[in-house]
Parts: sequence; structure tokens; C-alpha cells
Amino acid sequence: MEFLSLNNAVLMPILGFGVYQIEEKDECERSVLDALEAGYRLIDTASLYVNEKAVGNAIRKSGLPREEIFVTTKFWIRDAGYEKTMASFSRSQENLGLEVIDLFLIHQPFGDYYGSWRAMQTLYGQGKVRAIGVSNFYPDRLADLVQNTGFIPALNQVEMNPFFQQHEAQAWNQKYGVQIQAWAPLGRGLQDILENELLKNLADKYQKTVAQIILRWLTQRGLAAIPKSTHRERIVENIRIFDFSLDENEMAAIRTLDKGRTCFSSHTDPETVIRLSSRHF
Ligand code: NDP
Repeated sequence: MEFLSLNNAVLMPILGFGVYQIEEKDECERSVLDALEAGYRLIDTASLYVNEKAVGNAIRKSGLPREEIFVTTKFWIRDAGYEKTMASFSRSQENLGLEVIDLFLIHQPFGDYYGSWRAMQTLYGQGKVRAIGVSNFYPDRLADLVQNTGFIPALNQVEMNPFFQQHEAQAWNQKYGVQIQAWAPLGRGLQDILENELLKNLADKYQKTVAQIILRWLTQRGLAAIPKSTHRERIVENIRIFDFSLDENEMAAIRTLDKGRTCFSSHTDPETVIRLSSRHF
């Protein structure tokens, strides 16, 4: 496993395991245990995913020392604001059964995330989180937060995959020293991303799968990634990306696949803001 150094010198595995849409308790626990056994040392959950308890159980059952596992969670829009974010953090702590959470993120750039950001700085100052960051902050929101609070997030978790490459966003995050972590790195398998001819040819060349080519391409761009799977063989497959490299021409060829728009929904679309803001769980 390779590690990245966040802007506060905390080390984070470049590849992690995402658990969005693994809501069934036993399935989540088993998948996380499979991931830890396969060598993953970063688990990405959120209060929205309603599986923090299963993640915590799997971590304890794995028998691995706590300090070897990097745990990320996030609070949802309904918990934006200082007091609500503090309360949401306490619930996550309890659900996960962890005193210290490695990375705590603002899940969406909506609601009173300024108040939340202050709460997160308090938690950071108290040593209850090792790093704080954001998610789905497009460059305008990121610039707003940094310029007007002066506290730079350690990480920004955003959609990134061959069809939505976000080079401009990468440049902005780099400018501020914010590490990007790619969600839906495999485009959730939609839009035939895993059937793409160019990616399939590269997979043939390296005797790898398209998923492995994509994850290698992301990490070679200096981006962290958190693929999700409930299938043991895919969980193992997705972490086997550290024994080959793509060359410059191949990196450039993959760049031509960029469609320049999200595979899901844009965070600058008012309909998305309305839909996400009214999401309850
Ligand atoms: P991914 O791009 O990780 O794709 C997951 C899908 O791809 C699943 O359907 C999985 O199927 C399939 N898959 C996984 N590996 C392979 C493989 N090797 N070959 C073929 N198919 C494969 O999408 P996610 O949306 O899950 O994103 C990853 C993580 O990012 C989430 O789990 C979550 O932790 C985070 N996330 C964060 C968001 C945010 O707003 N901050 C938004 C969305 C996600 P199967 O499980 O059946 O194997």
C-alpha cells in the first residue's frame, strides 16, 4: 500500500474501501472484513450510509491494531451548523465505537457548513479527529471556504473517473494543498465505463482488468480513491494495482476519455441541491 501525506502531515493510504449502499448490516461487516484481510487500511463511511456500526464491528473483529486503520466518516446536510455537527460527530463516534476518527468530512457544501467548519476545528483542536476535510466542494466552494475561514481542509472527496476527470478542480485543490480523494472511481460501473475499448486494450496489455487500469490511473495522478464492492474477488482485484505503471502516452490517451461532466448529478444544479437537502435517512 502506498501512503499520502495530508497537509497536516497525517499519513493516509492512497487506496481505501468505500461502503456507500452496503446498508445490510451483515453484508457490510463481511465486506469490510474482506477488505481488511485483502490489505485495505482505509474505510470510508458516512452517517448517511447507516452502516457505521457494522464498520466499527468489522474493525474490532479484524483484530488489527486500531492505529493501523484509517477511518473516515461524514455528517449529512441536516446536521450542518456548529451544535448539530458536534452532536452528529458524537453519534458517529458511538456508532463506530471509536474515540478518535481519522478524518471527518462535510458531506455536502450545503446548509450552514461555516458553523460546521468551526465545530470541526474544535474537534480537531481537542484531538478527537486527526484531520478534517470536505466533500463535493467544487473549486468555487473550496475557494470560498479557504479564503473566508483561513483553515484549509486536509482533503476534498469528489467524483472522479475517466469520464469525469476534473483536471481544473485538481489544479485548484493542489493550489491550496488539499488532497483529492475520488468517489465513484469506477463510475459505479455505469455508462459502460468498464467496457470502454481504450481501457480494455490497456487491461489486455498489462494483464489487468479495466477496474485496475482506472484505479492505477487515478493513483498515478496523485489522487486517492475509495472503490466499493461487496464481492470478495473484486475487493481483492481492486487493491492489486501497485505492481505496474501506465506510461505518459497511456496517461495522455486516458485523458481523451473525459466527457467533462458528472456521471451522476451536478452540485451546481439547483435540482441537486433541493434533492440532496430533502434527503432523510
Ligand atoms: P464505485 O465507482 O466504487 O463503483 C462501485 C460499483 O462498481 C459497485 O456496483 C460494484 O459492484 C462495482 N465494482 C466494484 N469493483 C468492480 C470490479 N473490479 N469490476 C466490476 N465492477 C466492480 O462507486 P461508489 O459510488 O460506490 O463510490 C465509491 C465510494 O465513494 C462509496 O462507497 C463511498 O464510500 C464514496 N462515495 C462518496 C460520495 C460523496 O458524496 N462523498 C458519493 C458517492 C460515493 P459490487 O459491489 O456488486 O461488486
